[in-house]
This record gives sequence, C-alpha cells and structure tokens, in this order.
Amino acid sequence: MGGRGSYAGGDSRQLTIEYLSTKAEVQAIIAESDELRATQTAAMSNAGSAEGIPLAMFQCACCEQYTLHPAIESEQCVVCGWVNDSFQNAHPDSLQGQNAITLNIARRQWNVR
Ligand SMILES: [Zn+2]
Repeated sequence: MGGRGSYAGGDSRQLTIEYLSTKAEVQAIIAESDELRATQTAAMSNAGSAEGIPLAMFQCACCEQYTLHPAIESEQCVVCGWVNDSFQNAHPDSLQGQNAITLNIARRQWNVR
C-alpha cells in the first residue's frame, strides 16, 4: 500500500501528505545548495593571491597551499597530508579529530622538510 505514484482511488489526503513531504525535501535541497554557494563565494573572496591559484580552493591549515575543495568535508591535503578537520584547525594543540597528531606538530614537521 501507499508509495509514490499510487494516486488511483482519489485519496486526496494521501496526495496532500505526499505533496508536503516532497515540498520539504525540495526545500532542504535548496537550503543545502544556498549554503554551499555561500561557502564557495567566501572561498573565492579570500583566495587568489598569486601564482595562478584556482580561486575556489581553500588554503590548507598546515602547509598553507590551496589544496582543499570547499564542498568536500574532511579532505586530505595532497601536499602535506593534513586532514582538513575543522575542530583541529581551530584548536591547533588538540588530538580530538581525524589527524593522529596536532596541527602545531604537523606544521613543525612540514616546515623541517
Ligand atoms: Zn597541506
């Protein structure tokens, strides 16, 4: 019983409920894409210094190269290997995150290479 597309019989109440839940799904998708656009706009406004850096990339918290895509969460930097963990980025001495070492240690190790 039920399910999408079973409108035969003219149960208008079921139709209304399905319509409302579809509407909510669409609104959630719109809200998500608005959020993503805001993130990308922010990335474009703070990047683009020199060297032909792609404008929509984020700067790695460890090696400071523009290696991170704004739409990808917890992405690993291809240059230094740091995982872009927002908590550890904000707390450079914390081990609470996806990296086994703190951001400060990772930066130090990166700088001695
Ligand atoms: Zn990096």
